[in-house]
Amino acid sequence: MGDTPQGKDITIEFDCQFRVNLQRSDFSSIMKAFLMLLPQLLEDFFQKVLIGFGEYEMGLKKKSFACKHCGNDTEFIWKTRHGKATTILTWFRWITLKQLQVRCKQCGSKQYITRMLLGLEQKQRVPEETRHKLALMGALTTYRVSEKIGKMFGWAVDKMTIWGAVQKVGAAMEFALDGDEEPRGEADGTGIGITGIPKRGKELKVLVQYKKGGGIRVAGIDIGNYNGSWEKLFQKSLDVIKGFKRPFLLLTDGDDSIFKSLKGKVVILFQRCLWHIPYQAQYVLWQDKVKRKSADWLHVVAELMEICSIRPLVDCQDTIQEMISSKRMRLQNIIEFCMEKKLTHTVSYLQNARGDMFTAIENRLEGRTTSRVERLFRTVNMRANVSKWSTEGALNVTKVRLAYYYNGFDA
Ligand SMILES: [Zn+2]
Repeated sequence: MGDTPQGKDITIEFDCQFRVNLQRSDFSSIMKAFLMLLPQLLEDFFQKVLIGFGEYEMGLKKKSFACKHCGNDTEFIWKTRHGKATTILTWFRWITLKQLQVRCKQCGSKQYITRMLLGLEQKQRVPEETRHKLALMGALTTYRVSEKIGKMFGWAVDKMTIWGAVQKVGAAMEFALDGDEEPRGEADGTGIGITGIPKRGKELKVLVQYKKGGGIRVAGIDIGNYNGSWEKLFQKSLDVIKGFKRPFLLLTDGDDSIFKSLKGKVVILFQRCLWHIPYQAQYVLWQDKVKRKSADWLHVVAELMEICSIRPLVDCQDTIQEMISSKRMRLQNIIEFCMEKKLTHTVSYLQNARGDMFTAIENRLEGRTTSRVERLFRTVNMRANVSKWSTEGALNVTKVRLAYYYNGFDA
């Protein structure tokens, strides 16, 4: 991005002379007339300001720009103040500006300085500020509604432009753990209801980190196949994890592939999300053909609910140890009960989970044992469920949306 000349106050004389034909004086007629006036007013204003700064530049000994051909940055003359037209998107509408063009006195080559003055890249038609506003709008609601809202307030911008802004801003967003925040977080995946993509085909995976002041921030996000591709989520954060003074405590519902993807790379304490366990148990009980609300079903589910409920703020190490061994004992009893009943799915699920169930409590890391990602997923689904998406499109809109709700992105 070019540097805009700064540090000087430039006063622009701006005499307004417009001819508008109105038939009535009521509110809506005046608003309508102003909307007709707006592009003209806005273009004139941009043009006047640019010429003002252009003149100021030309009066300087050393310019803020240099000849692209010979590098001369002192001697130029005006070629034109109303040259070839270029369009940019303000957040009122597209405007067309006549470009300012100068000629190098040393080599004679001509160049435009309008974009340099605006701080825009060559050929950039949508300024970053406008793009961010469009991207945020498109991430907060549907493209159709975005377009509608824009139009209501006189912003004539079409769905495709909004879509494009979301894609561009989302694709450029990167998420990683922050070394200054807590070495604790959660990773979870959910089948995302992307219209046009079979529900169980793709999974949205999110890594969130706890913030020191409370709350969470998003530290990784991806859409990929079930049971896989967790690597991508942690890739940019491995060095941050290594930099923490304490081992990173990761809360998860126990997707095996998270464990595999991090094995040997960093020290991480896993804590299964205890909130999930009684619910996932209901699924394996169903696989084992245990009738819902039968005596066996109630026994297993009720026991697991109790085992998985952790009293927060127990601060005495001995009490914690006692609680954990009591819970372990009860869990062992339930597993044996399921073995006797030949509930093979349930047995293997519980045996798998038990190694990581009490990690946080044992390490007295005050780890929250219920998931905060659940809520985050609801935030995602409110937007992703409503239209047809490519995987990439859904990922980008989700990134912008989550960045707004959790990471301070704003426009
Ligand atoms: Zn030159």
